[in-house]
Amino acid sequence: MSSQGTVRLQVSDLLAHPGEAREETVIVPVAVSITNADVSSDADAQLKLRSITDGVVVRGRATTVADLTCTRCLLTWTEAMDVPIEAVFRVEPDDSDEELPILAGGHIDVGVLVHDEISLALPNRPLCSPDCLGLCPTCGNDLNMDPCDGHGEAPASPFSALRGMFADEPSPEP
Ligand SMILES: [Zn+2]
Ligand SMILES: [Zn+2]
Repeated sequence: MSSQGTVRLQVSDLLAHPGEAREETVIVPVAVSITNADVSSDADAQLKLRSITDGVVVRGRATTVADLTCTRCLLTWTEAMDVPIEAVFRVEPDDSDEELPILAGGHIDVGVLVHDEISLALPNRPLCSPDCLGLCPTCGNDLNMDPCDGHGEAPASPFSALRGMFADEPSPEP
């Protein structure tokens, strides 16, 4: 692959016949790596191409698998992604980001489109669960597995245990 995610489709036939549509299934190589989220497997894209005047509307879905790391507790897991795809390709696209160009020879590059949509759909701060407790800042324990209530409010010192032993209050029955 010379260019990441490039998958070109020939749409000259559609351009010649506004109103026509056809379905395409494409495999898009994806390589995205952001903080705590990676995609390194191909995406399967099911796309419907519909011809409009001087352009082609592409709609569909792309599925792949992301490797995520919890921002709080560093747990890693894989998660299926199912990303909606929608774009308008035009012979003369406007200046907005909404429209993509139809390339010379009547091709559209759906690979870059799918690659970008998957990148945008990755979570910025993945969490293994919305109420993940994260790691203990004192000892590094995973607080989801091991709620470490040992460090109290006061900083640990060798004397704190002795103080407990000689405390005046009767200790609670076990
Ligand atoms: Zn977590
Ligand atoms: Zn701790």
